[in-house]
Amino acid sequence: MNDATDNLRNVRNRIAQAAREAGRPTDSVSLVAVSKTFEATDIRPVLEAGQRIFGENRVQEAQGKWPELRREFPDIELHLIGPLQSNKAKEAVALFDVIETVDREKIAKALADEMRKQERQLPVYVQVNTGLEEQKAGVDPRAAVDFVGRCRHVHGLTVAGLMCIPPFEENPGPHFALLEKLAGEAGVGKLSMGMSGDYETAIAFGATSVRIGSAIFGAR
Ligand SMILES: *Cc1c(COP(=O)(O)O)cnc(C)c1O
Repeated sequence: MNDATDNLRNVRNRIAQAAREAGRPTDSVSLVAVSKTFEATDIRPVLEAGQRIFGENRVQEAQGKWPELRREFPDIELHLIGPLQSNKAKEAVALFDVIETVDREKIAKALADEMRKQERQLPVYVQVNTGLEEQKAGVDPRAAVDFVGRCRHVHGLTVAGLMCIPPFEENPGPHFALLEKLAGEAGVGKLSMGMSGDYETAIAFGATSVRIGSAIFGAR
């Protein structure tokens, strides 16, 4: 039994417990295992333990390990959770199944163009900078509802939901609450929020998926 497999089981139990405490069905929260910086040899035991949804934050890094893992495990669902440059849109659309970090017009257009070219309509999330942090990606919360509308109606993207990364030093609750409110206003159903340190709180605020790295794979 390897550490990551134990950790995975523990995280799954805690997700189920948090869902129950929130009065939600346990299958209403999905787990995105964040494998950035870890190698295929670290990831394989987690796949063997049944995990199928993974998150990576760099296109190039993901290209180096996932094509081979996919040949072994064809039903993998890979999420891009890091910032995307428009010159990487082609590779991103070819490799990933969900893009969680759409946050500007140029990226929305580049992705839409690639999806048409590759005939691969992927669900996307709009990333919202709930803390208005200068260094952080994401749309201004005040522009989020309008931007979701533009992604849908101008670019023809399938916007599944919203994603956020709250400021590191703050209580995340108000940020999760804001994301939930904006999703309601924008008419999208999914909320990608919560990481190793705060996923139970995120579930209490309605997260439909949590992105968990170090609590499964260990410190980076
Ligand atoms: C790295 C990362 C995570 C996972 O972080 P942990 O604290 O290790 O769980 C989640 N979301 C995003 C966007 C990340 O870049």
